[in-house]
Amino acid sequence: MIPFNRPPVVGTELNYIQKVIENRKLCGDGEYTAKCSQLLKQRTGTSCALLTTSCTHALEMAALLCDIHPGDEVIMPSYTFTSTADAFVLRGARLVFADIRPDTMNIDENLIENAVTDRTKAIAPVHYAGVACEMDKIMEIASKYGLYVVEDAAQGIESYYHGKALGAIGDYGCFSFHETKNVSMGEGGAILVRDPEQAEQAEIIREKGTNRTKFFRGEIDKYTWIKAGSSYLPSELNAAYLCAQLESADIIQADRMHSWNEYYEAFEELERLGRISRPVIPEGCTNNAHMFYLKTKDIGERTQLITFLKEREIRAVFHYVPLHTSPAGREFGRFNGEDRYTTKESERLLRLPMYYGLTAEDRGRVIDAVCEFYHTH
Ligand SMILES: *Cc1c(COP(=O)(O)O)cnc(C)c1O
Repeated sequence: MIPFNRPPVVGTELNYIQKVIENRKLCGDGEYTAKCSQLLKQRTGTSCALLTTSCTHALEMAALLCDIHPGDEVIMPSYTFTSTADAFVLRGARLVFADIRPDTMNIDENLIENAVTDRTKAIAPVHYAGVACEMDKIMEIASKYGLYVVEDAAQGIESYYHGKALGAIGDYGCFSFHETKNVSMGEGGAILVRDPEQAEQAEIIREKGTNRTKFFRGEIDKYTWIKAGSSYLPSELNAAYLCAQLESADIIQADRMHSWNEYYEAFEELERLGRISRPVIPEGCTNNAHMFYLKTKDIGERTQLITFLKEREIRAVFHYVPLHTSPAGREFGRFNGEDRYTTKESERLLRLPMYYGLTAEDRGRVIDAVCEFYHTH
């Protein structure tokens, strides 16, 4: 069976984990966490990057930093993972879902302003498949109405929008290092904080509401409880794994891009014949090969194709069921305007096997199977 995903392993992880054990320093914010933060800051051009236990937790931190209160509204796409919504709902927010663009599956930047009310507090764009939302427009609306922007850049590592790293454009940016993402630590994430004053608040929230991080840097001689917080820092064991991965990010990315480009070229003919659609990378956006998807005619054809591939021992999977159609989505949110594309396009989307180390042979099998399906159906 060709799996849909395989967690990335570059080979240096065990050595680093071994060092953590030898150093007898297992808790968070040790040598490897510091190295990871440094690498993230360098690669994204931000002054503050804090490792977290997940992207979900990075989003929760962002919701706390935005000072979300019950009744505040947050605008986001319905086509996203539950974490984008959970983080704000836990603070009592109401969700306002805006429709997506059919080309990128990202929130339609032209539908955001219409969703703004006097209760709107934040916009949470999601960079689907690591391809940027139209951030210039989103930042312009945010500044016009005084709103926070929290980027769900869970899939966005090593991807850019007009030269700026995803996650480093809004007030807060959240990455995921879950085993399904390009660069991993099993479970984990990071939050990027643009404003240095907010960076200190973020450190406090992440350290159980204390200024312990400042204390460890020797900036104060004792630490104390400052505000409500939680524990959002990962263990050094996990950070060691991530450090190995971040150091090899270029190798991982080159390998994934190679697979992505091969899929893309192989399906050109099917798209030209009008059988499928391939992903679109808009002008000024880069692609980080987080995901390769194609779009079938409709949900019926997609189901047939999934079965066809499964019979050939290939795992291809669909993705989000729009949040506004779920029980919690109905309870905590509303869809603003017409659902022109969210449901329709989500039903067409199928993700093909994509991971670091996908072999040419396996990629070839996937391509041949998809082409065979369309030649025989
Ligand atoms: C993976 C993902 C998350 C959750 O990341 P975790 O690190 O598993 O918490 C959130 N949002 C999006 C868009 C994701 O793809």
